[in-house]
Amino acid sequence: MKRFIFIIILFIFCLSGSKIVCQDFCFAEADEVVSIPILMYHSVLPGKTGNYSVTPDMLEEDIKFLQKHGYQSIFVKDIISFCEGDGTLPDKPVLLSFDDGHYNNYHYAYPILKKYNFKANLNVIGAFSQFSTSSGDSDHPEYSYLTWDEIKTLHESGLFEIGNHTYKMHDYSPRFGISKKKGEDEESYKNALSADIKKLEDYLSTKCGITAEVFAYPFGEYNDDGEKILRQMGYKAFLTCNEGINNVKKGDSKVLSHLKRINRTGKLSSKEFFEKYGID
Ligand SMILES: [Zn+2]
Repeated sequence: MKRFIFIIILFIFCLSGSKIVCQDFCFAEADEVVSIPILMYHSVLPGKTGNYSVTPDMLEEDIKFLQKHGYQSIFVKDIISFCEGDGTLPDKPVLLSFDDGHYNNYHYAYPILKKYNFKANLNVIGAFSQFSTSSGDSDHPEYSYLTWDEIKTLHESGLFEIGNHTYKMHDYSPRFGISKKKGEDEESYKNALSADIKKLEDYLSTKCGITAEVFAYPFGEYNDDGEKILRQMGYKAFLTCNEGINNVKKGDSKVLSHLKRINRTGKLSSKEFFEKYGID
């Protein structure tokens, strides 16, 4: 009998203990749908605000707002694990996603992310980074792009997850982003797309020690054949420019095909931006 009472007491203790752990770490329960805002940034430059440019102060205000409201930064790979049925997500996850690989991300955004220990996804364009590296014209915040060494440093900091944004398909012609050219047959399209993607993969792997599994569609332009080719190459998550907040369910990976992002325009203050999209 004493042993039975002891087991009951131990059981109650364990229950209350697990509740404390849950309150401390606030992980989402299985089966629960988790809302994930993904905020898309481009340039970070002092005194320059536009649709694709915020100032360092605005980025810092965004992070302070998010931390104050209980948001925790995650990587895309955390969403992948959750959708594949493993891993956990915080109750209030947020993903900062930087496109194009501007040098100003290294110069201005990186120190801010370090200061607040905030993670980010960064999708680089191979041809731009190769030009910066080979020309040596690489340290102008207004127009330079990241060199391979800088990408490696960001990756090794543990604060940045690097994604593929194509080697040289971030263009309006001869095709718009990765879209098919008019009249292009399936095989030619597959050869062109896979050769381009592989070229950036080779640079990332040899120069930076990175294997990317995240793909960001240039201009948010996607198609089913393209996704199929990219999946065969090992990509698991695809970032679009479709505006909205993602509702992600554990074990359900459909959402990974078209992750939505909200463009962080520099035309709104942090407060106005978060209010507009109901992020609180
Ligand atoms: Zn882009």
